Amino acid sequence: MSIREIIDHDSARALRIGKYNKGLNTTTMAWRIGDTLIDSGPSNQWPSLKSFVIQEGVKKVLLTHHHEDHAGNGANILSELHLPIFAEEKAAACIRKGHSLKPYQKIVWGPSTPFQPQILISPFDAGGGHTLTPIAAPGHSDDLTCFLDKERGWLFAGDLYIADRLIYLRADENLSEMLQTLGKIKKLDFKTLFCAHRGVVEDGPAALGRKHAYLLELQENAKSLHSQGLSLRQITRNLLGKEDFTSFATGFHFCKKNLIKACLTNPAP
Ligand SMILES: [Zn+2]
Repeated sequence: MSIREIIDHDSARALRIGKYNKGLNTTTMAWRIGDTLIDSGPSNQWPSLKSFVIQEGVKKVLLTHHHEDHAGNGANILSELHLPIFAEEKAAACIRKGHSLKPYQKIVWGPSTPFQPQILISPFDAGGGHTLTPIAAPGHSDDLTCFLDKERGWLFAGDLYIADRLIYLRADENLSEMLQTLGKIKKLDFKTLFCAHRGVVEDGPAALGRKHAYLLELQENAKSLHSQGLSLRQITRNLLGKEDFTSFATGFHFCKKNLIKACLTNPAP
């Protein structure tokens, strides 16, 4: 049932793991470049992640954000492999403090144990000639950081991209910040985007541009329907269809209505 897959791209290698294979969000990739692992996967897949870390000769771990499918194995890495783990200040603070998980998050990804990451120093030496520059990318989460390898034109994007078209939004995502971040990062000088769920995206700036344009259009359409007097429920059904299994299974923490509500309340054009 569990997914374990290796993905190679040039000198980068990813382990894709997940307890379930139900759409993009239920499996996560941990990318190894040089001697660094970027993100650590969910804690319920620890044996797979541990053997990958050992086989690949990973010497340090870098985290994009605190979510349980990215930082979930940090406590295991520290206690069993004794490798240093680095994160930007906001992510490190979230991870140190810990966060409570919804029932669906525990089922899909397992528990998330707080631990103490070190604060990364920019630029980050990832080994193997890879130097990474952290770029703040709030929106999906307040603490999301992307890592740019300027020399190769690679962007390790965590959960910034995932897809051109979102149909659900987490209750704690910030659409306004997401739009600002997409607008900023699509202009950066890079080619390949490494997404923690989608994998390798060859023309990263174009992909981020498509997502940015889609969200702006969705927002415009939602506001237009609202001005015609339609309710939140009607607008959601009209633009994204009825709520489905994902919405119900997550107790509406990750649902269509959240996205339309964010479109309607976002003051940006
Ligand atoms: Zn995330």
